[in-house]
Amino acid sequence: MVVRGLASALLLLAGSASFAMAVAMPVGRYTLVPGSFQPGRQPDGNTVILDAPRGLIVFDTGRHAEQQQRILAIAAARKQPIVAIINSHWHLDHTGGNATLLKAFPDAQVYASKAIDGALAGFFPESRRDAERYLAAGKANTEQAAEIRVDLERVAHPQALRPTHPILQSGKLDIGGRTLDVHLARFAATEGDIWVQDGGLVIAGDLVVAMVPFLDTACPDGWRRALDEIASTDFRQLIPGHGALMTRPQFLHWREAFNALLDCSGSSLPRQVCIDGWTSNAAEFIPQDERARVAAMVGYYIDSRLRVPVAKRELYCHPLGGRQAAWS
Ligand SMILES: [Zn+2]
Repeated sequence: MVVRGLASALLLLAGSASFAMAVAMPVGRYTLVPGSFQPGRQPDGNTVILDAPRGLIVFDTGRHAEQQQRILAIAAARKQPIVAIINSHWHLDHTGGNATLLKAFPDAQVYASKAIDGALAGFFPESRRDAERYLAAGKANTEQAAEIRVDLERVAHPQALRPTHPILQSGKLDIGGRTLDVHLARFAATEGDIWVQDGGLVIAGDLVVAMVPFLDTACPDGWRRALDEIASTDFRQLIPGHGALMTRPQFLHWREAFNALLDCSGSSLPRQVCIDGWTSNAAEFIPQDERARVAAMVGYYIDSRLRVPVAKRELYCHPLGGRQAAWS
């Protein structure tokens, strides 16, 4: 439930991502617009803006208006059009801003997997019903209700969420006159996750979420394979979907923590051991004052996504809505 269920875990987080400028940058020029997790609000994913010969490429568009205003301000300051949007995956904290950016730059092309079709068929309808019940019950405060209505509006007009250029396989793509190595990870954090390698830089989307992997719509074993593929490429720096820039050793450390969480959840070890394992193994990615919230999220994911009957665990390892796979 992007509106509530997804939020029920995500809202446990607070604080904001920070950005550390790398020292020796063996990567092309980019600008990071950090996402945020404000208390009681849905998150925004990180946005990365890449320069291309014909204009700007925007990797993920955030959810809230503030994020889109920052993106548009950068385009205005550069006097460059936004020529392309790449969406790492369909979650609204990465795609919600598409409509606003496309209104300002109607010619911008949208690159994404076709997994949005599964979300529209098999995820958002239920999410919508939950959200409407939640609103009707008066459980949301004024600001939350307004945010939920924006989300519902985005889903009610999904053309901005759909790719103009569906990515059906990994390969090099010319986007705005710039060649990028675009990877499709099948059945990972979602049915189709896009990540980009550009020289020494990997832009990972939610295949890497610093504080805790968001497993709400995940195929855990597919996600593990996607991390192996990232690890097999030659990069120096990685921008996660949420959180600060990572070096390669930091990413490898994060992947170890991810794999240990999956292994622990699949074992008979006590639940608390798995929670403590994550908060200990991933400690460098978890601000001290976030540890309790992160521990609560890990427990939620163990109970709802990891330590569950196999059919439920693998729910997102198959196309949603009884469809063919998104890339067929
Ligand atoms: Zn996200």
